[in-house]
Formats: sequence, structure tokens, C-alpha cells
Amino acid sequence: MASRKKRVPPIAYDIALSEEEIRRERAKARELKRTQWWKNRLGRGLCHYCRGRYHPKELTMDHIVPLVRGGKSARSNVVPCCRACNTAKESFVPSEWRAYLELLAARNPSL
Ligand SMILES: [Zn+2]
Repeated sequence: MASRKKRVPPIAYDIALSEEEIRRERAKARELKRTQWWKNRLGRGLCHYCRGRYHPKELTMDHIVPLVRGGKSARSNVVPCCRACNTAKESFVPSEWRAYLELLAARNPSL
């Protein structure tokens, strides 16, 4: 009998975190915000994405890989982000966000 291979869908990772896990990661993010490490990052006053200079109060914590996509509240996954980039990231679909980053990189070759 011929074995029929199942076709793997192009996006096979449906890694939605449970609400419980997301709550835990959000709590971790709040803890991270209180660390000296994070305060130092904010103190540099730089948006991770557009490299614009901002007052630390204008910067927010952004998860590079969003929690809903399986990202963690870890130092390697959180960056300071200005409101404009934050809003863009939230409202864009991933392909638009990538295009936005490419546009920023084209404007600022040192990125
Ligand atoms: Zn920015």
C-alpha cells in the first residue's frame, strides 16, 4: 500500500501562546522594565528600529518577536522603541513591517 505523505503547510508553526503564558511573559516584561539594564537601555535614548533620538520617557519596550507569536520577555527579545515605530509595528502585517524596516535601513545605511 502506497503511503501518502501529508503535505506540510507552508506556515506550520502555529505557536500561539496560551493566555496563561502570555500573562506570565507580560509580568516578566514588567520586571525587566524595573531592571538597571533596561533603564540603561532607555538612557541611551535611541529607538532600536529608526535610530531616532528620544527622551527615555518617549520610548516603550517592544518585543522583537511579539508575545502572541511565541516571543519571550527576555533581554534578547526586548528593545527600546519610539511611538512611531511601535504604532507602525502594531498596525502593520509582518510583510509591511519588513518593508518599513527596509525603508529605514535604506535611509540610514549605518543601521
Ligand atoms: Zn523609531
